[in-house]
Amino acid sequence: MSVLFVACSLVLSLICGTIVVALGGAAQTRARAQTAADAAALAAVFESGPYGSANPEQRAREYAQHNGARLTDCDCVEGATEMEVEVALDGFSARARAVIEPDKLAPAPVSPLRSATTAGLQPALKRAVDRLIAASNGRVYLVSGARSTDRQTELWIEALQKYGDPEAADNWVARPGTSNHETGLAVDLSGDLGLAVSLVDELGLPLWRPMSWEPWHFELTGMDG
Ligand SMILES: [Zn+2]
Repeated sequence: MSVLFVACSLVLSLICGTIVVALGGAAQTRARAQTAADAAALAAVFESGPYGSANPEQRAREYAQHNGARLTDCDCVEGATEMEVEVALDGFSARARAVIEPDKLAPAPVSPLRSATTAGLQPALKRAVDRLIAASNGRVYLVSGARSTDRQTELWIEALQKYGDPEAADNWVARPGTSNHETGLAVDLSGDLGLAVSLVDELGLPLWRPMSWEPWHFELTGMDG
């Protein structure tokens, strides 16, 4: 069984890449089965993340088929950070497990034309975020700061359309009227999030990440998640 530890970008490159191995007969079939299992596991775990469509098993089945195999087992709990699959191909079966590291995830890149400002943030949060961004020398930037309730409504409806279920949408986007972005008490950062966290420590900034599954989302310490 292969075990794959992946970050998002790696997931995509592995899915897109095709490894052609010149092997004969059974060894070749076994290798093709393993490739199909790897692809299915990676696709499943990616679907579980914030940029997936939240149907890991369906994705695993498609990627197994793209690779000429059939999905025979999928231990794919929606929203989990780990997926295990089994596929069958011409009498061979192969298993693979893929693990996604939420710390390596980041919000989708935004165009510099749309980069957010710290306007509208609660003053203590604005000061902390301005200091953090200045100290990062361009390696950490603001993706989203204060947000209107209209914008929060749009985001939640997008999540509802994507996940097809209000409870699943709630896992990724706060309901309008409940997000700390709407009251200027939260920011989403991008770039080098590891550096952001060490600068928070070094500079003693009153920032923390209340939600482990959204490592880009920072709030003032002492606020409720
Ligand atoms: Zn956020």
